[in-house]
Amino acid sequence: MKISLIDIGSNLTHDSFARDRDAVMARAIEAGVRYQVITGADMGSSSQAAALAAAHPALLSSTAGVHPHHAQSFDASRREELSELLRRPQVVAVGECGLDYYRNFSPPDAQRAAFIAQLELAAAARKPVFLHQRDAHADFTAILKDFRGRLTGGVAHCFTGSRSELEDCLALDLYIGVTGWVNDERRGQLLRESVPHIPADRLLVETDSPYLLPRDLLPHPRSRRNEPCYLPHIALAIARLRGETFESVAESTTRNATLFFGLGPD
Ligand SMILES: [Zn+2]
Repeated sequence: MKISLIDIGSNLTHDSFARDRDAVMARAIEAGVRYQVITGADMGSSSQAAALAAAHPALLSSTAGVHPHHAQSFDASRREELSELLRRPQVVAVGECGLDYYRNFSPPDAQRAAFIAQLELAAAARKPVFLHQRDAHADFTAILKDFRGRLTGGVAHCFTGSRSELEDCLALDLYIGVTGWVNDERRGQLLRESVPHIPADRLLVETDSPYLLPRDLLPHPRSRRNEPCYLPHIALAIARLRGETFESVAESTTRNATLFFGLGPD
């Protein structure tokens, strides 16, 4: 059986891929990662991601949104630009958006305002949301609760939380995106305990490239840059924790991603 995975979080517009993006995409396909959803994190990367996806419609879609780090810059004109991007067919989700109180690069009130504004846009555009949350679980779930039923769907991207945080996300109908954080036995301990409890129909996999290089890759790459081609390594770690085969994780996560983002038949 030919494996086939979808990387739902790849920052392929990142500077570190500028020199060899085509080779990175070819290595992903070679490794069985047949489709990627390119993350937009601000207006610049969101429009670059949309252009890249438009150039490779059989391989890529993209998200468009403003990360909580950049929330302070989210004004009326950016909002207009974003709603314009959301009309494009290759832009399949709003985000990443959410709350990050760990770094607070933007003040929390600006973060909440930008988050709510993007949830409104997602509801209006009938597109799901790609969610980022760090150290802000209570406010994050409270805001999402207000939108429950209005959103087409949501994924807690790079979920790293505990069992009870997982239950809160599931109760909000969220999908759960798991990265190579799961390959880190120390830092990923809470996540590793949560992974077996994610329902098979809510699980999604992502690399968050070029960030979060899996710690246990052998041989360990010389570069610290993560790439979509390492997604099978992450899926294998997830399969082991869940007591499932790699093939069954590949099959369910690919089906989930296709449904969630409306990627259409292949
Ligand atoms: Zn993120």
